Parts: sequence; structure tokens; C-alpha cells
Amino acid sequence: MEQGVTMNNKQRIDILTSYKDNPMVHPLTCGNNSLHNNLVPVEENKKAILKCLDCDYTQSLDDEFIKMLREYDKALRKILEKYKIMVKELNNENTSNS
Ligand SMILES: [Zn+2]
Repeated sequence: MEQGVTMNNKQRIDILTSYKDNPMVHPLTCGNNSLHNNLVPVEENKKAILKCLDCDYTQSLDDEFIKMLREYDKALRKILEKYKIMVKELNNENTSNS
């Protein structure tokens, strides 16, 4: 996806879903009550929005923000992958030394 190219709603929802499922990010919480379940991305009135399933709260998002979430999600996933590899290597070293 190039800079400045508009996204369609499927792409927006894919980005939001990936972000939502990333265990390292701050969750997207309901603006009415943070104890509600995390917001879910849905398409409504031809727009990709975040919605609370526990009340009527919705959050509209502009593309700039969605792109920021995408970069953040991607960067954190890279860090997590790297970390898993490091832990694995460390475990291998420990086993071979013992
Ligand atoms: Zn809510």
C-alpha cells in the first residue's frame, strides 16, 4: 500500500483487526466505559469504524490514524518475532551448556 493511496474498507478493517489482535498494543477501549469489551472494527454506512458491542459507543477513524495503527502494529509484531528468536537461541545455548 503506497503513501497517499486511499484504502478500501476491507483494508481498513484488516488493519484494525490485526491491531486489535496484537497482544502488545494498548487495547482500543470503549469511550463510555473502559470495562466494556474492546472495540471491534465493523463497516457501517459505508465507513470502517470501531464499535462497542456492550453499548452504542462508536469511534470513527480517519485514514491517517489507521495508517499509524498499521505501522505501530507492524513494528511491534517485528519486535515480538525478534524476541521469540532471541529467547529460543538463549534456550538452545542453555541446553547445550548443561
Ligand atoms: Zn461500551
